[in-house]
Amino acid sequence: MRAFRTFLDQPVEVLSTIGPKRAAALSKIGIDTLQDLFYYFPRRYLDRSTVTPVRDLKVDEEATVVGRIIQADIETGRKSRFVLALSDDTSILTCVWFSHIRYWEQKFVVGDWLAVSGKVSFFGNFQMTHPEFDLLGDDREGSGYNTGKIVPVYPSNESLTQVGLDSRGFRRLFDRLTTNFADKIEEIVPEDVLQRHHLGSLKDALINIHFPQDNSALSRAVHRLKFDELFFMQLMLAFKRKRFRTDNAGIAFEQVGDKVKRLVDSLPFELTEAQKRVMHEIRADMKSSRPMNRLLQGDVGSGKTIVALMTMLIAVENGYQAAMMAPTEILAEQHYLTFYRMLENINVHTVLLRGGQSKKIRQNIVQDISSGHAKIIVGTHALIQEGVEFQNLGLAIIDEQHRFGVIQRAVLKDKGVNPDLLVMTATPIPRTLSLTLYGDLDVSILDQMPAGRKPVITAWRQESKRKKIYDFVREQVKKGAQAYVVFPLVEESEKLDLKAAVESYERMSGTIFKDFRLGLLHGRLKSDQKEAIMASFKNGEFDILVSTTVIEVGVDVPNAAVVIIEHAERFGLSQLHQLRGRVGRGQKQSYCILVASGRLSYEAKERLNIMAHSTDGFKISEKDLELRGPGEYFGTKQSGLPSLRIADIVHDMDILKQARQEAFSLVEKDPQLVKPEHIKTQSYFVKQYKDRYNLAWVA
Ligand code: ADP
Ligand code: MG
Repeated sequence: MRAFRTFLDQPVEVLSTIGPKRAAALSKIGIDTLQDLFYYFPRRYLDRSTVTPVRDLKVDEEATVVGRIIQADIETGRKSRFVLALSDDTSILTCVWFSHIRYWEQKFVVGDWLAVSGKVSFFGNFQMTHPEFDLLGDDREGSGYNTGKIVPVYPSNESLTQVGLDSRGFRRLFDRLTTNFADKIEEIVPEDVLQRHHLGSLKDALINIHFPQDNSALSRAVHRLKFDELFFMQLMLAFKRKRFRTDNAGIAFEQVGDKVKRLVDSLPFELTEAQKRVMHEIRADMKSSRPMNRLLQGDVGSGKTIVALMTMLIAVENGYQAAMMAPTEILAEQHYLTFYRMLENINVHTVLLRGGQSKKIRQNIVQDISSGHAKIIVGTHALIQEGVEFQNLGLAIIDEQHRFGVIQRAVLKDKGVNPDLLVMTATPIPRTLSLTLYGDLDVSILDQMPAGRKPVITAWRQESKRKKIYDFVREQVKKGAQAYVVFPLVEESEKLDLKAAVESYERMSGTIFKDFRLGLLHGRLKSDQKEAIMASFKNGEFDILVSTTVIEVGVDVPNAAVVIIEHAERFGLSQLHQLRGRVGRGQKQSYCILVASGRLSYEAKERLNIMAHSTDGFKISEKDLELRGPGEYFGTKQSGLPSLRIADIVHDMDILKQARQEAFSLVEKDPQLVKPEHIKTQSYFVKQYKDRYNLAWVA
């Protein structure tokens, strides 16, 4: 299969108004073909609902006005300025610029139409100072909106403007494009899908997104284009999942017997309802002969480890080996010790494989793994090194999945023959997003904390209260608790931050905390040094650990009950929540104090307030998404998803669900989209996704 060349795949230069210079400027923003051009959408529209008549302006409010330039002069005086007068038939608005006045004088021509946006003031007339503006041009365009037309405003930049492609230039270009080439737009979504969701044609959508006939035509166009974007994204996920399921005949783990039951009976606690539900989901996957491909999400402390252990025991009871890979030695060791303790009365040979073990010990462990003597194998990257062969690996578990790449995951899986896979993460992802991000994985969520957990008491304080904060830490440490003091480490200023952490450590050890034992942990240390310091803290050899943000996710120090986060205003919500999760893991009441420095932005205050009011990781991540917007929340590169230009995964959830359902059912019906009615869909998909998706199924 290959991407069909269609008419619209031709380079933009086939348009007579586009020469090499314009083509180069367009190419810089990713526009090479006629099709790319069609998908360059306006950034906003001017119409009666967005434009205010001058007569109705209100002082101190933001507004957009469209009018004809009736006067454009430089006024000299105490301070020279350039003054424009705009008339819109209701009244006159003046616009004032105090700098680059010669430039502005040349830019504007009396008689042209202009749209200006800015804050309104009043000096005899309504006035805007340094407004944003769009040249609308001649009568036909400028007055258009007066007759009920909706005028598109396009994003532009300096190099585009230099070749005449400011917003007005784009409007002219699109006028030509839609007039001459709209007939060449081919449908890409199957007809029956369009009908089921009452979607208009792609041709109508692409015309109306540029030159909307009216507001309802515009919203139909937007809806259709959002649907397309989400539909093709979900199609990619559907292919991934389909391929995974059909390429692999997995293991059907039939038995759940004595060992799992004995483990559950031996626990000093009841499983939470969430743990039971998740075990059900996992159980159903394991029983089936399709390989499990499941993501387990659970906030810090929600009890993922025991779920992992039960899952491993199921594999073991069916005669298979189970392996769990953790990102650091300290985490691997912690899991190993937990398992070892929990399996005390259940006969299962458990081993730990990590770096830094003596050659002899390592040899024995590797031997145990390949002979099948070892049933549960816990380790670090050491597990996926060459020379480690399993006898029959039936289940692979990956802890803190974001720390591993896709490749490492695949290498571990390849140590068995289509083993089941469970990946675990403590980074809560808003429910509304897992569909988008993990469409090819099944998702289980531990959304409940074990009973009796004391929520971490959280407060934020200004730096000026530092003395009080330290006194509080002293008090808690005297009562036997351990504490973390965390400094931010932002990449650009790594050196400075490191310096702040080291200096504070020195100052604190010499003064306020001089009768306590302090440790210092930062990213410049070698990894075995870091692990050694973390291990001593865990063993109670330090009272206070001063650290940059390197403290590990998932490290369980039940006796740590206080965390002070310095420069808390610099952290994102999710990060603050992860850091807070270092405490509150034991019996003690725990505390988190967020120390803010300097003047705080509205957003920073909002973040700190949310932290002080909520300990629910899912709620916090939803707020985080709201505050930052999806673009920043998930660097799209990181998530491997294409960036969305028109849809918004937060607000377009309903469209997303429809698109997802259609995409998945299409791939069930016609796994390679080769039926005649799906060929256009297939070729568009290949064109869009060829770089992001290994199209092996095509061969
Ligand atoms: P995480 O999900 O962060 O990996 P852990 O699995 O480390 O959490 O669990 C945190 C603590 O909670 C552990 O000490 C564990 O023994 C305990 N725990 C797990 N499940 C329950 C439960 N159902 N009731 C009470 N305590 C539990
Ligand atoms: Mg854990």
